[in-house]
Amino acid sequence: MAQCRQAYSRPVVEGQPIKLRDGMTKQSPRAVVLFSGGQDSTTCLAWALAKGYHVDTLGFDYGQRHRVELSCRANVLDAIQTQFPHWADQFGEDLIAPLPALGVLAQSALTQDQEIAMAEDGLPNTFVPGRNLVFLSYAGAWAYRRGAGVLVGGMCETDYSGYPDCRRQTLDAMQQALSLGMDHPIAVETPLMWRDKAQTWAMAQELGGAALVEVIVQHTHTCYKGVRYERHDWGYGCGECPACVLRRQGFQAWSAGR
Ligand code: ZN
Repeated sequence: MAQCRQAYSRPVVEGQPIKLRDGMTKQSPRAVVLFSGGQDSTTCLAWALAKGYHVDTLGFDYGQRHRVELSCRANVLDAIQTQFPHWADQFGEDLIAPLPALGVLAQSALTQDQEIAMAEDGLPNTFVPGRNLVFLSYAGAWAYRRGAGVLVGGMCETDYSGYPDCRRQTLDAMQQALSLGMDHPIAVETPLMWRDKAQTWAMAQELGGAALVEVIVQHTHTCYKGVRYERHDWGYGCGECPACVLRRQGFQAWSAGR
């Protein structure tokens, strides 16, 4: 079932100064982080927290087969808030938005029971056409209401499957469309855009040390098939789907280079 949850919300009064961890108060910049509960979006969340953003986190339930990622989100948020108390004050609301129509319309291996394979158009059949365009439109609407001028997403052109809506050029166009369409400046920040998966693991280490790496290994979910019964050194997953292969190979490359 689709669900909306605000378990991590705390009262936020728009326009009020926010107390920062260094004891100073100032008007904290706000960001909406597209947060699925996976490795990439968790790294992006840590990046936004380290930059000092006051963050609202947004996930989408579009009927994805790996919907287990949605139940991982709460564990990730809980673990970060527990292990990084200096970031705890920067959390705002957490929301899962139901988008069942996207799954129905997109007809992808991510939303239907079919084998993952390359399609005739040269893209894997896990491609959900326009997914990030839809996500960013909804995130932009929420950012408008939350007074946020920044969206943060884990899109990446470096280690990706050729999804055209992950390209920075697409996101530049979305940024412009959102800003024009809402007459409200919206920046789309993509801290992983030019990093491969090994560099994404390294980024987690830089942002939060071994504790953040362990949060990602233990609590985040990436596997397209939703497998969570076997833990590897890189986390849970089937180990064979394209998402698991990228995550595993990135972890191994990063580990070998440490
Ligand atoms: Zn997998």
